[in-house]
Amino acid sequence: MNKQKFYAFLQRQILLLIALSVIPGLAYIILGWMNGVAMRALIWYGLVILVSLWGWKLYKDFQLEQMGTEELKTWYQKLTFFFYIIFGLWTLAFLLYAGEVESKLHYIAIFTQIGASVVASTLLVSDKKLFFPVLLILMLPLIGYFALIGEWYGHILSLFSIVFLGVLLYSSDNSYKLIQKNYYQAQHDALTGLYNRRYSVDFIDQMISRVQFSKKFAYILLIDLDHFKTINDTLGHDIGDQVLKEVAKRIKEYCENTHMIARLGGDEFIIVSDEFNASDDCKEIAYAFSEKLLQILKEPYVIDTHQLYLSASIGVNSIGNSASEAKHFIKEADIAMYEAKAQGRDGIILFNDELAKRVEYHLEIERKLYFALEHNEIELRYQPQLNRKQKIIGCEVLIRWNSPEFGFVSPAEFIVVAEKTGLIIELGTYIIEEAFKTFQSWNEKGLELEQFSINISVRQFFHSSFSDEVERLAKKYLNENMRKKIIFEVTETILVEDMNRIILAMDKLKRLGISFSMDDFGTGYSSLSSLREMPIDELKIDRSFVSHLGEYESDELMITTILTMAKIFNLKTVAEGIETKEQFKFLLKNGCDIFQGFYFSVPLKKDDMEKKLLESTDVSDIETILHFNT
Ligand code: C2E
Ligand code: MG
Ligand code: MG
Repeated sequence: MNKQKFYAFLQRQILLLIALSVIPGLAYIILGWMNGVAMRALIWYGLVILVSLWGWKLYKDFQLEQMGTEELKTWYQKLTFFFYIIFGLWTLAFLLYAGEVESKLHYIAIFTQIGASVVASTLLVSDKKLFFPVLLILMLPLIGYFALIGEWYGHILSLFSIVFLGVLLYSSDNSYKLIQKNYYQAQHDALTGLYNRRYSVDFIDQMISRVQFSKKFAYILLIDLDHFKTINDTLGHDIGDQVLKEVAKRIKEYCENTHMIARLGGDEFIIVSDEFNASDDCKEIAYAFSEKLLQILKEPYVIDTHQLYLSASIGVNSIGNSASEAKHFIKEADIAMYEAKAQGRDGIILFNDELAKRVEYHLEIERKLYFALEHNEIELRYQPQLNRKQKIIGCEVLIRWNSPEFGFVSPAEFIVVAEKTGLIIELGTYIIEEAFKTFQSWNEKGLELEQFSINISVRQFFHSSFSDEVERLAKKYLNENMRKKIIFEVTETILVEDMNRIILAMDKLKRLGISFSMDDFGTGYSSLSSLREMPIDELKIDRSFVSHLGEYESDELMITTILTMAKIFNLKTVAEGIETKEQFKFLLKNGCDIFQGFYFSVPLKKDDMEKKLLESTDVSDIETILHFNT
């Protein structure tokens, strides 16, 4: 059971027990007075009052937020003694009256003793260390008393008392086990046996209050396994579960028992440390701790016949300098963890002010973006795409947000935000409509293009009304011939969905004449098989490979491999981000079909693009281009 809750429950029992002792105790004084044992009764009652005062002090002493683990332990020990003693006093009362000659006193003594036993078995049911000895303290004298009568009925009553004691112990024990089980289930994760989210949030909330009081620090570690979904998808959930269990086991073995370890859900774990005196110490220790943990988690996993390799991204946050809620600290650790993912995974990031500012900026963007469409702040640009003879044969539509507050905001930044908030659906439809309008007007002006590419985000792509919307707009603005020239650029992130769903979504659009391009190819994890299965027509080699041409041999190799592979699969190739002649020449030499980049043109406004289109003719044949030296 959660120790804190358990202590709080026991604390409440103190008051009840004091009331149940002090009030019926008064009746005993009257009884004593009526039967000539007033002195004894008064002394006994005096003891009850003394012990009750001690109980009251214990009740007051209990300040959960301000008590350390050790203090709590000592408090609990004292409390145990309090319970033993106060019930012991009832046994004392029993002995006092059962020793008298008057048989009516015996009846009362017997009744109160049985009553006290029932009280003990209900109030102390949460703790076996309490109800077990207390029931013995209360019932053994009664059993002895009956046995000492010496008559046959005395033996029978003694036997009955033993049975009664047995029943009380049995039922208390059963309830105790049930409570324990319920508490366990409410606080633990069924798969790994670690604590669950609910418990960890409670725990962190208590830790926050404690460190606020003690002026100390603690850290939380949020661990998320990298690419865990791939294991689930490729090897099945059973293997996935076994991996999670093994990860939990490794974390548990590595941590000290002062750490609180929980699984928040999925492949996300959280660790909360003990308290530290200084914030810097805490951060250093947290970092070193995380590094070692990462190493342990990266050791190979042997599950069934599979040998698996995993890494994790860890976000670290320290608790102690602000009186916020657990949720707040977890969220910050989450932001740090996502930053670790964004920086290439398999890493550790400590939450810091800079990250906090960035999050704040993103929130601002989120709020302002909402009005950007309404206020006409979103504009479209068109970046030319050239063929091997340097003639413009197509373009890519790229959006720009001209915000009065932030100035120019890169789509790389706000598309993510729009995806998160769902605004991408509205934004995406707007872009498609504007782009189709432009394409239509160019067609009317006789400006011919072979292809016209529009970026589509994953969330937009899988939205239920996407294909219907595209169909509606395509029919409104484009003739059949023009529709065949539309290309939707998707990134490898669409692979988050299963292949059947991707193909289903693509097929519907293909029937309209639209084709697909795999954008930023080489940065994600599309496999050869996924390329073969998807109805893709074009590969766009990611800018990062092109920009490093001449620097890293591996990038050259990557590009030549992609180009060769594209030939095998009969796909058109586009290289983006070409900035230099050398890059262009390299790509040309290796058989790339289409070229895009600042070397030819930056993304242009509609009018400028029209002018470029009018000027554009075949520059020269390939041989000339490959041998030009200037
Ligand atoms: P992307 O689709 O890979 O677009 C290519 C990006 O490379 C564009 O950045 C383009 O301006 C930039 N670029 C082109 N040539 C060069 C070059 O020679 N050097 C350099 N350094 N950069 C070059 P941009 O416009 O900032 O767009 C970034 C990303 O934002 C796009 O990457 C795309 O993923 C997303 N995006 C842009 N417009 C849209 C849109 O309308 N819808 C959606 N869903 N995403 C969009
Ligand atoms: Mg693109
Ligand atoms: Mg790209």
